[in-house]
Amino acid sequence: MSRGLKTELRWLAFVTITSFVIGFSFDAEFVWLSIALFLFIIWLLYRTAQLESWAAQARRSGPPGDDFGGIWGEIADDIRLLSRRYEKDKVRLQAVVTRVQEMTSALADAVILVDSRANIEWWNRSSQDLFNFQDIDRGHKLVNIIRNPRFINYFETQSYSSPLELESLRNEGQHLEFHVHPFGQGERLIVIRDVTRVNLLEQMRKDFVSNVSHELRTPLTVIKGYIETLIDAPDLSKTLRNAFNQMLQQSDRMTALVNDLITLSRLETDQTELKPKPVALSPLLETIVSDAQALGGKIHHQITLSGDAGVSILGNNQELHSAFSNLTFNAVKYSPEGGGIDISVTQTEEACIVSVTDSGLGIDPKHIPRLTERFYRVDDSRSTALGGTGLGLAIVKHVLARHDAELKITSHLGKGSSFSCYFPIERILREKVA
Ligand code: ADP
Repeated sequence: MSRGLKTELRWLAFVTITSFVIGFSFDAEFVWLSIALFLFIIWLLYRTAQLESWAAQARRSGPPGDDFGGIWGEIADDIRLLSRRYEKDKVRLQAVVTRVQEMTSALADAVILVDSRANIEWWNRSSQDLFNFQDIDRGHKLVNIIRNPRFINYFETQSYSSPLELESLRNEGQHLEFHVHPFGQGERLIVIRDVTRVNLLEQMRKDFVSNVSHELRTPLTVIKGYIETLIDAPDLSKTLRNAFNQMLQQSDRMTALVNDLITLSRLETDQTELKPKPVALSPLLETIVSDAQALGGKIHHQITLSGDAGVSILGNNQELHSAFSNLTFNAVKYSPEGGGIDISVTQTEEACIVSVTDSGLGIDPKHIPRLTERFYRVDDSRSTALGGTGLGLAIVKHVLARHDAELKITSHLGKGSSFSCYFPIERILREKVA
């Protein structure tokens, strides 16, 4: 029991006994006892009121120095102690906040904090430079300051799995990448990176690949032309004929590589939206099947078309041809003689799926996530021997991305593979377009 409580109890005992003894001598002990206890309660209420007004003052300007006796004194001491602790914590937390603010101010990236109602709470120095924030902007909606419709749409959809890239409205030519990180109770942290330089370097890389591929095309055509002429010369020795045959084979490989590089760089650099036209699947796939049969040459495969190909996809005919033929030619290349290859078209509620399934070599699952990377080959020597460039699936991936479609690969080593292209239903026309 605390000392203060003991004191109060002692007082209570003293008041009770004294009033009872005095009351007893007047033969009215219960009257005296009641009056004394009533006065004691009044006294307790008075002390409580004093403590309350002391606490109110403590709330406004820190605990005053007044000393209370008894249990109230102890309560006041506890409040003083808590208040001192609170002050210390406040100073410590303030120091942490200041330090974090200093750190984020030093960041080259812009950082903005918005509350659960999307009102701006705080920003760092880089954000100020980028968006010219003023003090009066604090508490205002972020979308009233960054008014780009694409940003507003992205910010309000609440789906931030990938960042948003935009051209700055304030500085022409500047590209910004927005990352939004939700945290706490609906608050969001927005980190904005200036990616102008990275984009420029990426563009330079793409231009370089594109230019080199185009530049290589002409000399290759000339070299190939001469080899083809020389190889037909009647007096050619066997050794030279072999050498020319190999040169021809290698120049064919280089031509295929250059063509794939040109296709890939065109897909990458051509950022303009596709002007989609209905592409009838049936004739497209039929052409690919007969090309694939020709590609197999003496090696025969059972190539079939199944499902409902009587639909059209809104897209680009040339690009779709390139994607489906890459998948089909791969199936031919990586299937042994007599292997079955099926090109099927299936429709579900959400998608139209074009799948190329073979019963060929199959792929170890560990390779599947990397298959669409440029020049990624499961078996380098086999792919090269079969005339593979290592760019086919990268082209497929780019074409599908430009058609809002997705590639899914399933495969079992030694049993075969299935490459499925999922086109969103919005891109599908059910009527057959001739
Ligand atoms: P490549 O020109 O070498 O065929 P791709 O990008 O088209 O390049 O394919 C990448 C790799 O994926 C290939 O080297 C091959 O190992 C593997 N691959 C692609 N399609 C198939 C398939 N249908 N069956 C087995 N492996 C395949």
